[in-house]
Amino acid sequence: MSVSAEESTYGVGASTLIVRSQPDIQSNAIGYIKRNTVVTVSEKRFGWAKIDYNGQTGWVASQFLYPTNKTATESPTQNVQSDQKVTVNASGVRIRKGPGVNYAIRGFANSGDVFSIVNQQGQWVQVRLNGGGTGWIAGWLVSSSANNQPTGQQSLKGYSIVLDAGHGGFDPGATAYNGLYEKTLTIQMAQAVAEQLREAGATVVMTRSDDSYVTLANRVSVSGSYPADAFVSIHYNASPILSTSGITTYYYDDSSQGLAQDIQQELAQQTGLPSDGVRFGDYYVLRNNPEKAILMELGFISNPNDLALIQTAQYRSNVANAVTQGLMNYFGK
Ligand SMILES: [Zn+2]
Repeated sequence: MSVSAEESTYGVGASTLIVRSQPDIQSNAIGYIKRNTVVTVSEKRFGWAKIDYNGQTGWVASQFLYPTNKTATESPTQNVQSDQKVTVNASGVRIRKGPGVNYAIRGFANSGDVFSIVNQQGQWVQVRLNGGGTGWIAGWLVSSSANNQPTGQQSLKGYSIVLDAGHGGFDPGATAYNGLYEKTLTIQMAQAVAEQLREAGATVVMTRSDDSYVTLANRVSVSGSYPADAFVSIHYNASPILSTSGITTYYYDDSSQGLAQDIQQELAQQTGLPSDGVRFGDYYVLRNNPEKAILMELGFISNPNDLALIQTAQYRSNVANAVTQGLMNYFGK
């Protein structure tokens, strides 16, 4: 591997730094990185720094980077000289091109297959494939020979989860500062979460799967007509104060408070948005629900910074990971 002299590493100084496709504030946000992540910068231009972002070229505002004293070859994500191996513990496991269910499938692995770990990100492990190249596998579908890294040892096999994408049809929910509707964002997110939960072994029922109007009573009765273990409602917040930001998880019945806490804790760790904690919420779908029920407000679409994150595939993937892990933590107790 040759590393050019100009390449150097920096730490991220902002709590959440948006990665854009071009060195231009108007260009698309392709993802984001969290505080103290180390990035390798290959070029600087007019206040922007060019970085490698999951194999893609991305640009970040260089004012939020601080120099580290390492050279690129010492970056922790490169040259992982690890003998650590993982064993696949399920059949038909998808190997993906990146660390999340939104990435394309590049192959399959079966129970007992062994791979060397190249890298790790969140709940996902990057492994060296036998035919050359690498791929990513969800951490809960593998077990590790050393120190139980990654952590995911459980699955959601046997659990049924009702996913409720808020609003729909003639009920748009909140309107984002750029005109986007909450109902559109909630269904996109519900689909990402559903896919992740199914990969973790859960049975997933959705209260709506397209842009249709479903009454609150019917949403709850979906929950009542299946032997579901949890009801998870997905919403986004809005405020006239544009700087208001963050994620809150609500519960109504005391018996749902623990589930709300386990999911909120993972959202706080994995999404990069501030945590506004767990709160009591007197919402119809919680109050009348026969199951353990929570409602997530996954950021403020009135806040331009929250909205830029919310619209990325990485955010959906991170929330999907957080909800899956939160449910595993809760049911694993
Ligand atoms: Zn809503």
